[in-house]
Amino acid sequence: PKTKLPKVGTTIFSEMSQLAQATGAINLSQGFPDFDAPAALREQVALHINSGANQYAPMTGVPALREAIALKVERLYGHKPCMDTEVTVTSGATEALFAAISAVIGPGDEVILFDPCYDSYEPAIELNGGKAVHLPLDERDFSIDWNRLADAIGPRTRMIVINTPHNPTGSVLSSEDLERLASLVRDTDILLLGDEVYEHIVFDGATHQSLLCHAELARRSFVVSSFGKTYHATGWKVGYCIAPAPLSAEFRKVHQYLTFSTMTPAQLGLADFMRSTPQHYLELPAFYQAKRDLFRELLAPSRFGLSDAKGTYFQLADYGAISDLPDTEFAKWLTREAGVAAIPVSVFCQQPMQRKLVRFCFAKGEDTLREAAARLCRI
Ligand code: PMP
Ligand code: GLN
Repeated sequence: PKTKLPKVGTTIFSEMSQLAQATGAINLSQGFPDFDAPAALREQVALHINSGANQYAPMTGVPALREAIALKVERLYGHKPCMDTEVTVTSGATEALFAAISAVIGPGDEVILFDPCYDSYEPAIELNGGKAVHLPLDERDFSIDWNRLADAIGPRTRMIVINTPHNPTGSVLSSEDLERLASLVRDTDILLLGDEVYEHIVFDGATHQSLLCHAELARRSFVVSSFGKTYHATGWKVGYCIAPAPLSAEFRKVHQYLTFSTMTPAQLGLADFMRSTPQHYLELPAFYQAKRDLFRELLAPSRFGLSDAKGTYFQLADYGAISDLPDTEFAKWLTREAGVAAIPVSVFCQQPMQRKLVRFCFAKGEDTLREAAARLCRI
């Protein structure tokens, strides 16, 4: 039979987590914390479950949560979205990315992606008849080559996907980057899709440069985030999309037939927690920076070369001094032989990479990081 996604197999995240489980390895592959969501948040959600808030939420999201999101965005990025027409709650960022792409991409449209790039964008583009145009990031620091982007933009370019902080590389965009981007899309009708699920995980005193910080960019952007990352609850799958009203209207046409709405008690509990505990996300950079610093310090005696990690909870490691294996084979070997699972990076790239890189997730307790690093130092 004719298949719609002939090149797509099972995601590397499922594959590596399954291998980690089967071999008993420490799982630093798929990105998720091994510690729990805040107790107060769990209690709020449980309270709503037990008080009967268990039927459909409004299609666009529970008002209290949309209001809390709008307030947070205004406080952090100086842009106040209208909670009724510009904020939509979704079943994870994954749904929001798919809905945004489906809402505006059709046959013949090109979407520019930067490699290595998160694996859910391209299937969404393809299923809608669009074409992904892959541009490599600079492998030295994983920055965007703006001249190359300028050359790639053409009459069919409909959208550019911007992921900052960036998975898997941990790079972040600066305000100068946003200016460059603005100058390239000015006088075009190109839309932007901002994947900002790691918005609260930036290090060394940097501030996250959301597309929403830049009024000119915000006018043409879908900006997507996820409570899974922010509140250590990746299993809840609650995210959201912020976009100008006309774009949100198109977004909602897809969302209402993709999932219609998102788990009600989770939304109500998240709204309560965002109101009562805004300091939680303000403390997240320091919380994860301590883990990053510990993990890097522990790996310093190893033969891995560590890239800069400016944001996200991922660390890239160059294993060129250890092995000549291609990265997928190396990641599997590492899982079986060293007992630590990692994610190969080339699977996120259309063109082969020069460097030999795997990704480790450091959203783990201290004991886990110590044991994993000890194993990695022995190889
Ligand atoms: N985008 C990026 C860059 C991610 O890392 C993730 C989570 N792995 C997602 C989107 C999806 O987020 P969610 O789990 O909320 O669907
Ligand atoms: N975003 C997570 C990661 O990068 C995994 C998400 C998933 O498993 N689909 O590891």
